[in-house]
Amino acid sequence: MDVALARDWMRAAAGLIAADADRLTQLDSAIGDGDHGVNLNRGFTAVVAALEKSPPETVSEVLVKAGTTLMSRVGGASGPLYGTALRTAGKALPAGAEVRPADLVAALHAGLDAVRKLGGAAPGDKTLVDAYAPALDALEKAVAEGAGPAGAAEAAARAAEAGAEATVPLRARKGRASYLGERSIGHQDPGATSTALIFRALADVS
Ligand code: ADP
Ligand code: MG
Repeated sequence: MDVALARDWMRAAAGLIAADADRLTQLDSAIGDGDHGVNLNRGFTAVVAALEKSPPETVSEVLVKAGTTLMSRVGGASGPLYGTALRTAGKALPAGAEVRPADLVAALHAGLDAVRKLGGAAPGDKTLVDAYAPALDALEKAVAEGAGPAGAAEAAARAAEAGAEATVPLRARKGRASYLGERSIGHQDPGATSTALIFRALADVS
């Protein structure tokens, strides 16, 4: 991945989130407070603006800047969680205009670990972890098997989408949706859904 691809990834993520903002908000209305689409759309719009204002020279800086922007512009649970994921992933990357697929896998692992530490969610708790973890597993497996960037990112996107869909029958154990207890069952988790969009964006540009 080079710096242009990293920037394109964030721009594509912003585009998919803008296009699906209403859907994310509807999902969050069912089991949360209905702000997820608005929150993330505002955040990713700010990410695109920040990357245009002072274009980073390394992939690492792109992710750190995106994460920092999300942290300051997105409220609720998802701002700090996505912000932490991207900042931690960015900081874990080697400096340089280009990073290897294995570097990206390792960095995204660091991001997931940070999210799990911050939010305390495990797989199956009906959170964005349920899309992020399988996406990363799929990406890692594809890279290990020698898939090219496009194939690896496609595998990750599909795994994230399947993971998000698989949150429907789960009972939420973390975040606002957990207040609903049994009533959270039968709805797709908004954060897992937006995570799938972010991995789909990576596949779209790879
Ligand atoms: P809020 O719940 O504060 O309104 P958002 O609506 O922006 O925040 O985001 C909700 C999403 O955040 C949930 O759908 C879930 O995926 C994710 N989330 C909430 N709490 C946690 C947590 N502790 N760990 C991981 N993800 C979480
Ligand atoms: Mg919400």
